[in-house]
Amino acid sequence: MPQRLTLTNENAAPSRAKEDYYELLGVPKNASQSEIKKAYYALAKKYHPDTNKDPAAKEKFVKIQEAYDVLGDDEKRAQYDQWGSDAGGFPGGFEGFSGGGFPDFGNFGGFGNNDFFNHVFGGFARGPGPGFGEPLVQGSDIEMQLSIPFMDAVTGTSQTVSVEAISTCKACKGRGTKGGVNPDKCIACKGTGVRRMSIASGFHMQSTCPECDGKGTRIRPENRCPSCGGRGQVRDRRPVLIEIPAGVDDGMNIRIPKQGDMPLGVEGIPGDLIVRIQVIPHKVFKRQGSNIVVEAQVPFHTAILGGTIRVPTVDGDVELKVPSGSQPEQQVLMKKRGIKKINSQNRGDQIVVFKVKLPT
Ligand SMILES: [Zn+2]
Ligand SMILES: [Zn+2]
Repeated sequence: MPQRLTLTNENAAPSRAKEDYYELLGVPKNASQSEIKKAYYALAKKYHPDTNKDPAAKEKFVKIQEAYDVLGDDEKRAQYDQWGSDAGGFPGGFEGFSGGGFPDFGNFGGFGNNDFFNHVFGGFARGPGPGFGEPLVQGSDIEMQLSIPFMDAVTGTSQTVSVEAISTCKACKGRGTKGGVNPDKCIACKGTGVRRMSIASGFHMQSTCPECDGKGTRIRPENRCPSCGGRGQVRDRRPVLIEIPAGVDDGMNIRIPKQGDMPLGVEGIPGDLIVRIQVIPHKVFKRQGSNIVVEAQVPFHTAILGGTIRVPTVDGDVELKVPSGSQPEQQVLMKKRGIKKINSQNRGDQIVVFKVKLPT
């Protein structure tokens, strides 16, 4: 089976797929559980793909579900309020079933990427949090595409991919020095990382030290870590295991927390890896949501008199009864022979379309 793997982070601008769940549901930050529930029901009804045929509705519906999944749960909501949607607190990290919109799926709620970033992390970044002297910065997300065969999408699978990301240099543990040497104090700022200048009587201007970029230290060339050249960071490849749930559909995204880039040159936490799934079409099975459509050849006499034919299903061939007097293009529903719905135990159905072979 051909498996194409494309890393798309090289040239693509990093996009931060964050949603404001409150804005998505249209409720205030202090909304009660019953308000959230009410808003969710109203929106879910409005955008349900069964009733709303707008192609964008499906995507919106999924986002609403995602938002409610978090805000409707007090514990997840508290986590989200503090960290945002993807601080690693959510099991699985499966996100987004968007039918399209890659790679600009992040700007849904009207927050620009940075706005949302500030929105979520702002309070934390500005105040010196417990144990953090530096603002908490998150690195870029990395996006990639992964093609999987149709049957793997049906059954679910896992696959290890190679991801190139900015990471902390292992050789020096991010210190940037060789052999455990301590960096020297920056002479220009005397180790403070800032420069103060008197500009008028009693007034000072303060700026980041340009010599050490605010770090307060400098590493002499002879002490630099040979692996990272003193930067403390490297761009390297690592294997990442992607768990692909049964029922995944073409265009869905899987988010793996903390497998993105480390922020460049500053302390912080890595971004996420976002894997967009491409499902290679099957020769026999055509997918419609969680249903499968299959064409079956029916001999003429079987269509007239009735009988049985063998029909392929994702579980293997099964016998199917053909009622007498069956017509060409007639459809028969095979219950629960479709594809598993994500986050559910339910399966879709298989729709068999009779192709009646007329006698020549
Ligand atoms: Zn190093
Ligand atoms: Zn300095």
